[in-house]
Amino acid sequence: MGVDFGRRDIAVTSTGKSWSGKEIQDKRDKFNRVRASLQKKATLGTRSTRRRARNILKRLSGRERRYQAWLNHNISKAIINEAKQSQSLIAIEDLTGIRARTNQKPRNKTERRRSNSWAFYQLRQFLEYKGIKEGIEILAVNPAYTSQTCHGCLHIGLRNNKSFKCSNKACGWIGDADNNGSLMIALVGLSVNQPRGSELLACPIDSRATESLRCTLASA
Ligand SMILES: [Zn+2]
Repeated sequence: MGVDFGRRDIAVTSTGKSWSGKEIQDKRDKFNRVRASLQKKATLGTRSTRRRARNILKRLSGRERRYQAWLNHNISKAIINEAKQSQSLIAIEDLTGIRARTNQKPRNKTERRRSNSWAFYQLRQFLEYKGIKEGIEILAVNPAYTSQTCHGCLHIGLRNNKSFKCSNKACGWIGDADNNGSLMIALVGLSVNQPRGSELLACPIDSRATESLRCTLASA
């Protein structure tokens, strides 16, 4: 079972489940607007106003943190439960790649704050912790190419925001980019888990990565 983490959707699984990031994003934006105005009061107001503003700020950050933790707890619980029922192992992307990917394009301040404040680390920690508890194996796969590779034929495709288009004329798969990503992660996880999958791990991740993945999958 592959799980793709993203900004628009917090998580998308290869089995077709997804958790929208819209609600928490709206909440975050609201927190940030209130925070900005409180911070102004905390520096410019009278002494008692400043103290009050500081207290509210502290309370707000606690509330935001707890909401994030609650959300990540629910998502990881649902994913682990599904893996347990279908006796699957879970493949996720190595997190260092997510930040690199979401920070690829130059964006405005709001967008940067959004991508950097996502609590992917916590979600992964929860998944790993619950995985150990429930006996579900979690694999972190190298994210190189998973978002640009077609899960159907392993050719490089074009990713345009929400949609993915395979460049291989013989395949021509078109669909949801996150869906393709999660299926690719599942596929890489599966190949790594094969007895001969270490061949894939031994391959340097460069322009030949897709080629070697194709070979590994063929021989597995
Ligand atoms: Zn294809």
